[in-house]
Amino acid sequence: MKYSALYLYLLLFAPLLISSCDRNGDIVIFSPKEDVALGAQVNQEILNNPDEYPVLSEEEYPEAYKYLRAITEEVLSSEEVQYKDIFAYDSIKIIQNDSILNAFATPGGYIYVYTGLIKYLDSPDHLAGVIGHEIAHADQRHTSKMLQRQMGIQLLLDIALGQNQGAVTQVLQQLGSLKFSRSAETESDAFSVAYLSSTPYACTGAAGFFEKLEEEASGSGVPTFLSTHPNPDNRIENIRQAAEEMACDTTPSGSDILQKLQNSLPN
Ligand SMILES: [Zn+2]
Repeated sequence: MKYSALYLYLLLFAPLLISSCDRNGDIVIFSPKEDVALGAQVNQEILNNPDEYPVLSEEEYPEAYKYLRAITEEVLSSEEVQYKDIFAYDSIKIIQNDSILNAFATPGGYIYVYTGLIKYLDSPDHLAGVIGHEIAHADQRHTSKMLQRQMGIQLLLDIALGQNQGAVTQVLQQLGSLKFSRSAETESDAFSVAYLSSTPYACTGAAGFFEKLEEEASGSGVPTFLSTHPNPDNRIENIRQAAEEMACDTTPSGSDILQKLQNSLPN
């Protein structure tokens, strides 16, 4: 029932995605393994640039990674995640920048979460929702499609094969300014709900994050997450509607794991 409800929900939105694929020839030619190869190059580029991407050391902050991985593992326990065995989801990393409220994923599922986002959130349900959303962008290969459209298949293949180091920075810049289509965002939100439905977290977790952003967006400018993840009208409503159709549990988990994660981050 859970699955059919998700697909029913996606059917309502997918025609937009499918028809635009047909019109633009926007089909991923990359194989999922090439996604991982490309993601590995981007991941290396990030690790090579600690000034711009100060990745929190796992050796220095084992507790923080333990809690973040525990939340991620719960999300990945969903049968809806297609590529969990070949994508790099379990290598999720924390970038130390308290002023950035964002998370992003490369093709192949290398996921990065900024300390700013982790510290901003009030509930682990919300963090699980955002992680689910990012996993969906990689798992549904939205990022691969976007990059393929913007950079061309040949250049991406060269990068994936390690034959064009110079262009890796270009991919990284694109990732920082990617604007997904409304249908890709809606799809990722719906998958986030589906992923969370088999976890202890409220399946509408992603909506909680958007609610808080919306409440505060009128204050100090548009948070980064909203600039790379356009916030279509009714997005929160769509998440709630997806949850209703999937009949999943929206009760807050009441877990203190986010607090533990926050307390184990550098100040
Ligand atoms: Zn998104």
